[in-house]
Order: sequence, then structure tokens, then C-alpha cells
Amino acid sequence: MAKYVIVGGGLAAASAIEGIRDLDKDGEITVVSAERELPYHRPPLSKGYLAGREQLETVRIHDALWYRDNRVRYRLGVEARSVHMKRRSVTLTSGERLEYDRLLLATGSHARRLGVPGADTPGVTLLRTVAESTALKAAIKPGTKVVVVGGSFIGMEVAATARGLGAEVTVLEMGPLVYGRFADPSLSDFFKRMLESHGIRIRTGARVARVKSSAGRASGVATDTEEFPADLVVAGVGAEPNTGWLANSGFGIDRGGLIVNVRLETNAEQVWAAGDVARFPDPITRQPRRLEHWDNALMQGKQAGRNMAGAGEAYAHQSAFFSDLFDVTINVLGDTDKPDAVDIKGSSDLAAPNFTAHYVRDHKLAGAVMVNLMTANRTEEFDQLQKSIASGEFVETG
Ligand SMILES: Cc1cc2nc3c(=O)[nH]c(=O)nc-3n(C[C@H](O)[C@H](O)[C@H](O)COP(=O)(O)OP(=O)(O)OC[C@H]3O[C@@H](n4cnc5c(N)ncnc54)[C@H](O)[C@@H]3O)c2cc1C
Repeated sequence: MAKYVIVGGGLAAASAIEGIRDLDKDGEITVVSAERELPYHRPPLSKGYLAGREQLETVRIHDALWYRDNRVRYRLGVEARSVHMKRRSVTLTSGERLEYDRLLLATGSHARRLGVPGADTPGVTLLRTVAESTALKAAIKPGTKVVVVGGSFIGMEVAATARGLGAEVTVLEMGPLVYGRFADPSLSDFFKRMLESHGIRIRTGARVARVKSSAGRASGVATDTEEFPADLVVAGVGAEPNTGWLANSGFGIDRGGLIVNVRLETNAEQVWAAGDVARFPDPITRQPRRLEHWDNALMQGKQAGRNMAGAGEAYAHQSAFFSDLFDVTINVLGDTDKPDAVDIKGSSDLAAPNFTAHYVRDHKLAGAVMVNLMTANRTEEFDQLQKSIASGEFVETG
């Protein structure tokens, strides 16, 4: 009977259990997770859960019974410290050693800290865990002054949710554009205008210099030129993969991500990686890529689990990414990095936005951003775009 060990207790880990059990009903599965909660979905932490529309039970991936029925041994609140490839064992911070036949590394990523003086003052928060979202929810009241640092996905979602709860919200983005990753001024401008129309104040080119405090709590945020009063400061300044603990274990790591091949295998025998932590060959572009997306963790986790149980299949899923702001949905397909041209088709009228931005690189459709795909019932367009991106459809550009 195979001994499976999974390090990490997020979506990739939960999906890997499903993948293993697809093919191996009997193997012994042990999950080691630094968190004290069973795996849960993180997207609601900045949206429905933060807004109070969803509860812990509804964001959990599976309930406790499911793990029991699947005979999974869960070690919650326990951290792995190193992997010994030759001995095939994982050492925990307690000093205990777990032996494995097959190991999955699914340690995800952590929110980057705000690297300025005052960043550790009470009242400054990151958002990665359900505990952080619960604390944030309790602190946001009508009229609370919330300063969000970072004008990208998580920062903007927190800004929208906090505003929906009645907070006075300011977003500070150090770059010239919000959603700089969209690499398109008109798209960034659409989102900026949309959030401003809900009463959110947005400053671009605003580099935070320090967090100010009063009576031991954050009281404001200062840039080089302006000060913004704050009861709460939320840093949404990116995430970093959790691979520091593997630095001396001999794994191939590039830009923080664990390098895997098309079957999600690392350079160590019988060790796989999946989710935010994995740097994998993108099935479409064939380029190494690391993604911090829900869909990626779901599908890679499942594939890694199947492969651990002997499937030996290549990871072929074309990933996509979603976000919500107020009643506007965003779906990102393919690769929107460094486009040669971005062509927006449809209406970006704030009253009823309904459009798709096509990203063209080397005369090929490389990616797309769809706004309000569901309300406009454009799921067929989504499928067609996925196909066009996969086939590298030729696009004429002016
Ligand atoms: C607030 C928020 C909103 C998001 N919204 C969206 C969205 O709208 N759309 C979208 O596509 N994606 C979204 N994401 C991203 C998505 O949730 C992640 O990509 C996904 O959770 C990654 O899953 P994972 O299992 O790879 O890693 P994680 O979810 O990070 O889980 C990794 C787990 O491993 C544990 N761990 C780490 N190191 C160790 C160790 N040494 N030993 C034991 N355990 C360890 C961690 O504590 C954690 O529990 C959001 C993320 C956040 C934080």
C-alpha cells in the first residue's frame, strides 16, 4: 500500500486527494498543513466572506466527514521544515519525521509584507487566511477609513468590498496605472472610473513611504507628497511562493517557484508540486510559468494526485482567472503579458459594461480579458477564445 504525504493544506492539496482517490482507493494519505483550518477557498476572503455573505462552512472545500470517508490523516497546525530526498522523508518543525513513497509539495504562497517603516503596527493587515479576513470583517464598519495599498486584484477587491460595507476607501497604487498587469491604459482607466463611481478614492503614482501611528495603532499612510488618514491599512502588494523551507533540500527552484515538468514532477524522484508554488511548462506557450490562480490550483492539484497514483499524464489544462468588483465580473484567459496590441470590442460604458479586450502578440491571440461575461451570456465566446488562444489564431494588427 503506497504512502502518500501532501505538504500544504490549500486547494491544490484538497484536489490532489481527489486525484489520488480517483485511482487508488487504499493508499495511506497524510496531509501536513501549517494552517489550523481544513482547506478552504481563498477567493471569497476578499469578496463574499469578507462582505458577510458567506460563512466558513460554505467556503470550505470539503467538510470533515469527506476527509474521514476518504481515509485522510490530517495534521493541522503542523509545519514541514525540510525534505530528505534520499531517505524519502519530510521533517516537521516538531522534529518528527514522516516517511513517504510519494510526496506532493503544495505549500502555496504568502502575502508580501509592506516593506516600509510602521508596516508592523496594529491596524495594518495582509490578506491570505480566513483568520485575517475574519479580523478585517470585524474591523470594517460604516465610516471606517480604509487605506488599501496596491491597485491590483486583491487590493481592488478589498476596496470594493469595504466600500460595499460603508467604509471610506482610498487605494494607493505606486505605478502609473491600476491593474498594471493588464498592460493597457484604457482597460486600467475603465476599472479606475468604475471604482471611483462607487465613491472609492484612487491615487496612482503614490509610493507609500511609511505608516503613521497614534496610541500604538495605524492612523494614516504617508507617501512622499501626501498623507491619508486611516483606521485600517490593507496591504495587497503581491504574494511569494512558500519555498524558503526547501532552500537546502536540493530542489530545482526558479524565481521562488518549484520547477516541475509536464507531469508536474520535481527533480526529485516521487515528488510532485502543484498550485501557486509550482513553476510548470504552460501547455499552450510551452514557457515556464507560475500562476497564483484558483483554477490553476484546482486543476494542477487534481492532476498531480492522479500522477502520484500512477497516471503519468501531462498537465494540459488551459488556465483562466476570475475576479469580481461590485456587480462586475472579470475573466482573464491566456497570457496578457507584454502584448503588441490590445483591441477592446464591446461597450465599456459604466452603466452596462460588456466587452472583451483581445491581447495580440506576434500576430497571435495570446490572451483576453472579458468583462461581464455571465450577465451578457457570453460563455460561448469564452470557449471560442480559449480555442483561438490554444491554436494561436492569426490576428491582423494595424
Ligand atoms: C484574498 C484572496 C483572494 C483571491 N481571489 C482569487 C480570485 O478571485 N480568483 C483566482 O483565480 N484566484 C484568487 N486567489 C488565489 C487563489 O486563492 C490561490 O491561487 C490558491 O489558493 C492557491 O492554492 P494552493 O493550494 O496552491 O496554495 P494555498 O492556498 O496558499 O495553500 C497552501 C497551504 O500550505 C500551507 N503551508 C505553507 N508552507 C507550509 C509548510 N512548510 N508546511 C505545512 N504547510 C505549509 C499554507 O499555510 C497553506 O495552508 C485569491 C487569493 C487570496 C489570498
